[in-house]
Amino acid sequence: MSKQIWFLTGSQGLYGDDVLEQVRDQSSRLSDVLAAAAEIPAQVVAKPLLTDAGAIRRVMLEANADDDCVGVIAWMHTFSPAKMWIGGMDALRKPFLHLHTQVNVDLPWATIDMDFMNLNQAAHGDREFAFIATRLGVPRKTVAGHVSDPSVVARIGAWARAALAWAELRTLKLVRFGDNMRNVAVTEGDKVEAERRFGVSVNTYGVNDLVDVLNQVGEDEVDALVTEYLDRYDVAAELRPGADRHESLRYGARIEAALRRFVIDGGYGAFTTNFEDLGALRQLPGLGVQRLMGEGIGFAGEGDWKTAVLGRTLGVMAAGLPGGTSFMEDYTYHLEPGNQLSLGAHMLEVSPDIAAGTPRIEIHPLGIGGREDPVRMVFNAAPGDGVVLGLCDLGDRFRMVANEVTVVTPPAEMPKLPVARAVWRARPDFATSTECWLSAGGPHHTVLSTALTSEHLTDLAEMLGTELALIGEGTTTNQFIKELRWTNAYHRLALGF
Ligand code: MN
Repeated sequence: MSKQIWFLTGSQGLYGDDVLEQVRDQSSRLSDVLAAAAEIPAQVVAKPLLTDAGAIRRVMLEANADDDCVGVIAWMHTFSPAKMWIGGMDALRKPFLHLHTQVNVDLPWATIDMDFMNLNQAAHGDREFAFIATRLGVPRKTVAGHVSDPSVVARIGAWARAALAWAELRTLKLVRFGDNMRNVAVTEGDKVEAERRFGVSVNTYGVNDLVDVLNQVGEDEVDALVTEYLDRYDVAAELRPGADRHESLRYGARIEAALRRFVIDGGYGAFTTNFEDLGALRQLPGLGVQRLMGEGIGFAGEGDWKTAVLGRTLGVMAAGLPGGTSFMEDYTYHLEPGNQLSLGAHMLEVSPDIAAGTPRIEIHPLGIGGREDPVRMVFNAAPGDGVVLGLCDLGDRFRMVANEVTVVTPPAEMPKLPVARAVWRARPDFATSTECWLSAGGPHHTVLSTALTSEHLTDLAEMLGTELALIGEGTTTNQFIKELRWTNAYHRLALGF
């Protein structure tokens, strides 16, 4: 864990050295709890006690300049007059969390005196601090409660994951092989604004640049990948060494090797392809795309760079959590009354990260693209609660649209369906979910994650200063449409002039 979260404790000089020594001691006990928490996937680093404006401003500037620092947590152990925090908080450009807590769980009812009162006054010290943060409009998450409460640490952990994803986005590079699918609207977007707001740099290469790399791939590289396929997956008999169609599997491996060189060795964290623009590629990239996605590389089809960006972002946010994350497309519905389900898939490109059981490598014709039959992994997604997230460009801003879902085991086998798929129940119900999604203009491409929750997405949206239209338990269509109207007004005002 090289990434750090800085823990700042505020106080003031008024209390004298004895009290400040106790504050330091108690602060380090608290930050030790956070540093040891497995739910927080970054190093929590306690900084020296802050008692004046100069030191506060200095530590914020250092946080900005340190690439390893992905976020800052502050807690006012005592009273820290908040004018001292104006310069520092105004300068801070990293994700910020205000922790409202205190050292003791119980009040010492029998012994409480004014010394105790003066030492343990976060109840009003944090109110003074939060006023100035609000006055300055500092984006933040506020978490209240004792650190021994698992939900407090879990909420800090969700924020820390969002901060890691935010940091990844700041320097992310995405490569597009070809442009967008012709005439498609929602895959378009403002790449300049994306780089300003999110940090991601989106750049196009001709697909034949990838073919040039593919032509340099040696037989030994192909052999090694084929061996790995045979070890890890259930490979269809016709694709095995010596069988009729083994050469197609070898060509799939060649594509994967080329993608590894171009994308991963090139320092890209995400990529797109477009079936309308395959240059001299003999197959639509399927298996290789799935394998790279399975390692956390972001991907979307049809040149959809915005969804590929989300894929990488959510992959980083979910690292190490149970569940999986994948590119997804709402494909078709099961509309049985009371048991409406969505079937999500894509032409080929679904990540094995979400697979239930061992994926099977198969080869089938593909109706579009006009190339040789592509190899792909086929599987069902593992059941579990999760979210789907999409990103659209409304012209004046980006909007994220999310839905809480439950991935379920498909109610029946699908022996004729030659692609990986996920079947889920949308929350709060099919009609509300889809009416709200369509009203928000949410895209048909999304990222599905059964590792993440709406809390992760909410924290990320706050850090990115980007609208999140969230559909889940408690959402009603009428209220949601009203909120879209209100937030339209808010976001247009927030853009300024
Ligand atoms: Mn698509």
